[in-house]
Amino acid sequence: MAEDILARPVQYLKKVGPRRARYFHKLGLYTLRDLLTHYPRRYEDRSNLKKACQLKHGEVETVQGRVVAVSETQPRKNLSITKVAFHDGSGIFYGVWFNQPYLKKTFTPGMEVIVTGKVDRRYGVQINVSEYEIVEEDGEVIHTGRVVPIYSTTEGLSQRLLRSVIKNAVEEGADACREFLPPGILATYRLMPLPQALRAVHFPTTLEEAAEARRRLVFEELFLLQLGVQMAGRKIKEEGKGVQHRPDGPLMQRFRQYLPFTLTPAQEKVIAQIFRDMESEKPMNRLLQGDVGSGKTVVAAAALVKTVDSGYQGAMMAPTEILAEQHYLTLQEFFWPLGIKVALLTGSLSRREKENYLRGLKSGEYDIAIGTHALIQDEVEFARLGLVVIDEQHRFGVHQRARLRNKGYNPDVLVMTATPIPRTLALTVYGDLDLSVIDQLPPGRKEVKTYWVTPAQRGKVYKFLRQQLEAGRQAYLVCPLIEESEKLEVEAATRKVKEVEAVFGDFRVGLLHGRMKAEEKEEIMRRFRAGEVDILVATTVIEVGVNVPNATVMIIEDADRFGLAQLHQLRGRVGRGEHQSYCIMIADPKTDEGRARMQVMTATSNGFVIAEEDLKIRGPGELMGTRQSGLPDLKIADLIRDAGLLETAKKAAEELLERDPELSAPEHRLLREAVLEKFKDRWDYLHIS
Ligand code: ADP
Ligand code: MG
Repeated sequence: MAEDILARPVQYLKKVGPRRARYFHKLGLYTLRDLLTHYPRRYEDRSNLKKACQLKHGEVETVQGRVVAVSETQPRKNLSITKVAFHDGSGIFYGVWFNQPYLKKTFTPGMEVIVTGKVDRRYGVQINVSEYEIVEEDGEVIHTGRVVPIYSTTEGLSQRLLRSVIKNAVEEGADACREFLPPGILATYRLMPLPQALRAVHFPTTLEEAAEARRRLVFEELFLLQLGVQMAGRKIKEEGKGVQHRPDGPLMQRFRQYLPFTLTPAQEKVIAQIFRDMESEKPMNRLLQGDVGSGKTVVAAAALVKTVDSGYQGAMMAPTEILAEQHYLTLQEFFWPLGIKVALLTGSLSRREKENYLRGLKSGEYDIAIGTHALIQDEVEFARLGLVVIDEQHRFGVHQRARLRNKGYNPDVLVMTATPIPRTLALTVYGDLDLSVIDQLPPGRKEVKTYWVTPAQRGKVYKFLRQQLEAGRQAYLVCPLIEESEKLEVEAATRKVKEVEAVFGDFRVGLLHGRMKAEEKEEIMRRFRAGEVDILVATTVIEVGVNVPNATVMIIEDADRFGLAQLHQLRGRVGRGEHQSYCIMIADPKTDEGRARMQVMTATSNGFVIAEEDLKIRGPGELMGTRQSGLPDLKIADLIRDAGLLETAKKAAEELLERDPELSAPEHRLLREAVLEKFKDRWDYLHIS
């Protein structure tokens, strides 16, 4: 019965109907339950009622009065003015509405009305009404004369109507929402019971009450999220035996011996964490975070050596073929002195090469496979897969793991990301992964000097670029981002090449864009690495991971159009060698956000600081991660504002799952259902089929 009320479609609710229902659908509101969780965006405190004699000119005030007279005038075509005279015991005041002639019939003398609006005392006491409400005999006001909820809405659906419909929904539905948080949790964290919280979040009597209601609902949301994420994490750990790697063997010794540099303490620290996981028989599921240039590749190499040293094979997945190729070259250098055999699986292999590699991986002749996502799928078979390394933020969930297990493997998994995720977000998004952070750059790295210039200064930029090229350095020039169309982007890049060639006729200019074939991309990258191309004009395909130490100049056109994370990645392409490097952003920002991004980039090169700033400017919803991670969207929690509650919810979830890992106790049945509901379309995340 109770369920029926919550599932009732909006179109059958009072004041809605099929035509208006469309607007609700636009907002993603289909059922009465959806209305209950369409939480206010903010509140306006209209509870402070003034007397007519106290009204101040120019202020927005709220006042209640009895209708004395109603008039309507039409001074011009297209302009009608409704003027209502009120008396409130202290004096007369006038409410004024523009172009709402139907209001004339709404008000009749004797009616009690509350109005809110800006006061104008020039011609008597007048209020330009922004919100009004007729006070019924014993009715509750919802639009004014109190703390009023303001919702996000859509064109064609007024605040007023939406508020009324939600009011009815709360009246009918709040009590049908059964409390699912265990009494112990409610008591420990002093949380409002659910029906009360729903009433108070929409129609609070005070702002303090609204804050308390919100705290309950935010906690609930983060708690459910944490329960889901942690249950998934536990599943992975309980998947029984994984691969147990051996302590350092002879290969590892030789690997360290041949390293061209000393590992930083930060690299040593994360390697120790990774090795501890690998030596345990539980499957590893670890996220390695490190700013651009922090040296993640060598850490991955160490893990791969360990798996080979233990008699297993390793796989390394890269997001693009260019990066797969680059990893192949890098790892070859580390591995050839050790006799480790590496296969590269990309789309541009000849049939014979490919078959050779596939056969070699299946027989165990090849130790390591490098490639794109396809590596762990389809025809690829391993003799004994011990470790999978995933570079750059692929979501590698329980689903993919299950796939591998079905093939008879249960490898350790190491996910690497160069996008520094603020810790709060990492806790949520990657709650099922253990976290390792490389928080230190290799020594001797010179900070990339970053400049923001206007298009008018392009001449100077080119002059500077010429000096660098003449000194033997190379440069990237990134073309404007054209989000609407890759085709237009390619056209712009092609024009850019012509322009650059005209200025730098004596240097070699190359072009790299997303529409080129894989082999074409690899060829141009090969030539750039080999120093056969001086200026590489590129679209953002260059963004992640590319490592050419002799490139010292990164010029970004219309830089304000890029997001901070992207700019940081682009800048990370230079400053990778011994020479001083430069990042020059050419931009004439039209928005505050664009300007803010330019300022952040020139102020800091710390990826974690940039990520925090990014979160502030953009808000967490959009940040890489929540969208891509496959986690449910957040309805009320704000990961910056509610960072404290997130920690609390995480601890609470840990404690509860410690006692009841599957939430199978009868008193946790409703809670379990709520978790499943929250992850409704993400079964694969929770590993529930
Ligand atoms: P990222 O973390 O961005 O993937 P890379 O692994 O590509 O960084 O490393 C960036 C550069 O730093 C590479 O040229 C690499 O050889 C070098 N490097 C890595 N670790 C060290 C170290 N401990 N000392 C000196 N150079 C290092
Ligand atoms: Mg990398």
